[in-house]
Amino acid sequence: MNINYKQLEVWFLTGSQDLYGEETLKKVAENTKVIINHFNDNTPIPVNIIYKPIVKNSEEIYETIVSANSSDNCIGIITWMHTFSPAKMWIRGLKALQKPLLHLHTQYNVDIPWSTIDMDFMNLNQSAHGDREFGHIVSRLNIPRKIVTGHWKEDHTVERIAIWTRAAAAWKDWQGAKFARFGDNMRNVAVTDGDKVSAETQFGFSVNTYPIGELVKLIDNVCSNEVRKLLDVYEESYDLDDTVKKDGENRQSLIEAARIEIGLRQFLEEGNFRGFTDSFEDLHGMKQLPGIAVQRLMADGYGFAGEGDWKTPALVRACKVMGFGLPGASAFMEDYTYNFDPNNSMVLGSHMLEVDPTLAADRPRIEVHPLGIGGKEDPVRLVFNGMSGDAINASLVDMGNRFRLVVNEVIGVPVEQDLPKLPVARVLWKPLPDMRTACSAWIYAGGAHHTVYSLSLTTEYLEDFARIAGLEFLVIDKETTISKIESQIRWNELYYTLKRD
Ligand code: MN
Repeated sequence: MNINYKQLEVWFLTGSQDLYGEETLKKVAENTKVIINHFNDNTPIPVNIIYKPIVKNSEEIYETIVSANSSDNCIGIITWMHTFSPAKMWIRGLKALQKPLLHLHTQYNVDIPWSTIDMDFMNLNQSAHGDREFGHIVSRLNIPRKIVTGHWKEDHTVERIAIWTRAAAAWKDWQGAKFARFGDNMRNVAVTDGDKVSAETQFGFSVNTYPIGELVKLIDNVCSNEVRKLLDVYEESYDLDDTVKKDGENRQSLIEAARIEIGLRQFLEEGNFRGFTDSFEDLHGMKQLPGIAVQRLMADGYGFAGEGDWKTPALVRACKVMGFGLPGASAFMEDYTYNFDPNNSMVLGSHMLEVDPTLAADRPRIEVHPLGIGGKEDPVRLVFNGMSGDAINASLVDMGNRFRLVVNEVIGVPVEQDLPKLPVARVLWKPLPDMRTACSAWIYAGGAHHTVYSLSLTTEYLEDFARIAGLEFLVIDKETTISKIESQIRWNELYYTLKRD
């Protein structure tokens, strides 16, 4: 996976008006450039912040925003009112805005220059009231935006902006993205299903189905030379169980798994897909349920979830884009089973095969074991223990009249026990605020058993992303109580029923 963040642009629009005269406007432009240079100079902000000429009237604002809309590289705009910019001038432009918006509420100076401050200074340095005037019209127009308050040199300010740029990049990645679905939703499952037309309308990505036979055709045509090369990669990258080593009893299964990976990868590359889902109920013509193939494709940046779940792959992909280049990992996950001891409660997270090896704390091991479902040959999978650390679980669900994003802050803990009879990759976490509250709150919120588990991202990334995507956002963290989240869910129900579009 390679996201070229430096190629992505965020346009920086400083608002002003004609009232101040050339000298002040020159200073506004100069100061703006100093701030932008600071942001572009070795900060966590991964994208290119682009200076745009100071906007002074309704026409300039409108034209700049319309250009931002049509610029393919522009993923969002940052606005700042160094001076006062009467906000009725912004109405036409803001109504046309189609890109994510961040309002930076900063001030050029840190301290009040007590002994020298005069009306010339005040003519220039007006963000304390200028940003309030601008903020009013954004609120009145009901336009979602992130507001970041703080001096522009502060790490805290830069970090808030960096997070938002990553959320905006994930949003751009969704626009026009294609997700492939082999087979339909697992029969009778509710939470993994949903309205794909609404999703495409709201989120910009499409989900379409492909017959498993098309994939089988590619797998059948894989040449043995390519298989040999991929087996070399497996041998270099992972430990191999004796049974899959050369002349081992399961070697043929590994060869078949390599063929599946090559065929699947070819399908996804040729179709320019960003993710996919499959179903163990629809594998006609395949010898195994894809295990290691899916695991390695997820590690390469493809979104995925099992059982025909098409929403989670999209969220996995978005989280991988947001977290690109950051430590940790973002991966498809399932709440598998609990350690329910009240003194040591935790969730074991895994899936029957498809756990993303970017989570691995140790070197994954290739193993072949029977699978209770699917009625196919024993599938090949990578087995490993997952990393630990502060993490989140996130779930995207369809509530019928809107999509909801549920996030639970958790603490990933090291896997210290061997699980000799459960040969799947696994992670362990302790949900916040505590197991009882978190699990109840999650279930009240209608969150799925399929999630994105991320050690790279914090709640703020998902919150920024939810705001951009127009998602209802529910967070379960150390402050959560059941009565508070139940109330929030009730209020939201009313809000989304009455919401104007
Ligand atoms: Mn599942």
